[in-house]
Amino acid sequence: MDTSHTAHNEGPSAFAKPGEQGSKAAQLESKAAELELQRVSKRYDGQREPAIGDLSFTVPAGEVCVLVGPSGSGKTTAMRLINRMISITSGDILLGGSSVLERDARELRREIGYVIQQTGLFPHQTVGENIATVPGLLGWPKQRIADRVHELLELIGFDPEEMAGRYPAQLSGGQRQRVGVARALAADPPLMLMDEPFGAIDPINRARLQDEFLALQRMVKKTIVFVTHDIDEAIKMGDRIVILRDGGQLAQYDTPREILIHPADDFVAQFVGADRGIKRLSLTTVGELKLAAPESVTQAQAATVPAQASVKDALSAILTAGGEAVSVVDPDGRVLGMLTLGLIEQMLVAETAQAAHEASVEAAACSSEVSA
Ligand code: ADP
Ligand code: MG
Repeated sequence: MDTSHTAHNEGPSAFAKPGEQGSKAAQLESKAAELELQRVSKRYDGQREPAIGDLSFTVPAGEVCVLVGPSGSGKTTAMRLINRMISITSGDILLGGSSVLERDARELRREIGYVIQQTGLFPHQTVGENIATVPGLLGWPKQRIADRVHELLELIGFDPEEMAGRYPAQLSGGQRQRVGVARALAADPPLMLMDEPFGAIDPINRARLQDEFLALQRMVKKTIVFVTHDIDEAIKMGDRIVILRDGGQLAQYDTPREILIHPADDFVAQFVGADRGIKRLSLTTVGELKLAAPESVTQAQAATVPAQASVKDALSAILTAGGEAVSVVDPDGRVLGMLTLGLIEQMLVAETAQAAHEASVEAAACSSEVSA
């Protein structure tokens, strides 16, 4: 096929393919800022109980922090406090080290990308016009806006020529969410707030959107607060997870691994689920494990799993194979080694020992601080 006359051929490559991310990241200029909530409380008028109570946590620049908790635990309230759609009752919120309370609220909101479940795309504007909203408000020159829209459409895997002129009603739910993400990214905000962005998408497309979003985040490296009520989504998407309980109280703030190995209390343990041992297996890829040397006889008949598969998926393959070892292959199909049930067991034992060791080091540090 001759593609020499298509615009597609001239621009940067389309959506995130492994191996191209490095060069793409170098092309994209991207800002990110640290976010810090300091003893934040919110009580709505006429309510006796606070919706958010004394909530503190810090999201390092460029990390994804997932806010997760049952319905009504204050997740949406927390997001609206950060971009000042509602007023704070007490406490402070710092973005890039300075208080959002001292900012002009409208100006602040242009600096914070916001993605919600219903996308909030303007129905009478095209995809291109929707993405251009904030740059337009900021008074960017026409050509710069056009270039940015083009770049973002490619970033979300759209053909700009084909998609820029479409209206939201001409898109699937998943496509609308992608446009919502592109619109939020348009003015290169240092912070993105995403409130259950994939909540209304069917499970298969949802998993795809999650994967695409993670690939996109590896390129743009924004500071992101991502809300979900789904603990599996939280574990998959978060560098760190804030678990809220009723009344907007912090139940735990930790990495997914720590939350799965050491839930802070019964509430967290229940929220995370009785299968948290299994969930832990989704945090490690097979390629990270020390594998057994391939044996020519067993290897020939063994099922194969790719090195980038999670240990959870590999365990499933082993169980499907009646407990037999599986061979782990690289993208070219070369066998890297064999994975057995015993090796998975060794990994879990080593992880638990490591976590216990870290906990005892921490405890020792605390007690030496107390005695000093
Ligand atoms: P979540 O997003 O975790 O489901 P919300 O932040 O929407 O929770 O709500 C937290 C609590 O605050 C709930 O009890 C809800 O009823 C209450 N709430 C939310 N918005 C308002 C409002 N505008 N006025 C009064 N109460 C509200
Ligand atoms: Mg909500």
